Amino acid sequence: MRYKHHVLLPEVGGQGQKALAAAQVVVIGAGGLGCPILSYIAGAGVGRITVVDGDRVELSNLQRQTLYTEADIGRPKAEAAAERLRAVNSEIDIRPHPEMFGPETPRSLLKGADLVIEGTDRIAARHIINRAALEADIPLISSAASRFSGYVGRFGRPGPCYACFVPEGAAEDGVCDRDGVLGPVVGLVGSLAAAEAIRFLVGDAGPNCLLTIAELRPPSMRQVTIERDPGCPVCG
Ligand SMILES: [Zn+2]
Repeated sequence: MRYKHHVLLPEVGGQGQKALAAAQVVVIGAGGLGCPILSYIAGAGVGRITVVDGDRVELSNLQRQTLYTEADIGRPKAEAAAERLRAVNSEIDIRPHPEMFGPETPRSLLKGADLVIEGTDRIAARHIINRAALEADIPLISSAASRFSGYVGRFGRPGPCYACFVPEGAAEDGVCDRDGVLGPVVGLVGSLAAAEAIRFLVGDAGPNCLLTIAELRPPSMRQVTIERDPGCPVCG
């Protein structure tokens, strides 16, 4: 009964639902993008979800980070998110990891994962995650949003990696804390990332070279192809 509306979709069905139950996903970032990503994959019954975030909930998060309430202010996001998700779905294994994903993060955190999804807000962090996911040969869904727009892409072998798209050392652009972000933008982009994750896990995903770009002022969506960079120092 819980998953009826997914099972009704021929693209998911009973087989897809079993695949979701068997899946292990690591979500890095439980902020604006992480909230819809986590809500939808937990709701969908992904069997094991590791929530990685070193921040604490702040008042300025509540404008867009829908997993949290005023009572959560000051709590580690990973723990507050895990508690909320367990309240929605008690049948799955949710593991909070209340630390930033950095170069020192033990690689064992990714062990056994079928997919890494990141919704962090720094290019530098994405590159660390990209390298770790490539090393472990785990596909990476990367999402970013600021102001009125954002994108979602799936990276990893045999297609492009994140560094084929944004070279290492590139300047930070579109940082929410500096440039602002319309609340619904992270809802939209995070939902696109969750949809990509669910479709990937049930075996309904398209090629991983397509990047979806969403704009909300005025509203539009388009896809662009990202080529693998044969000279990429990370995946080459
Ligand atoms: Zn690359």
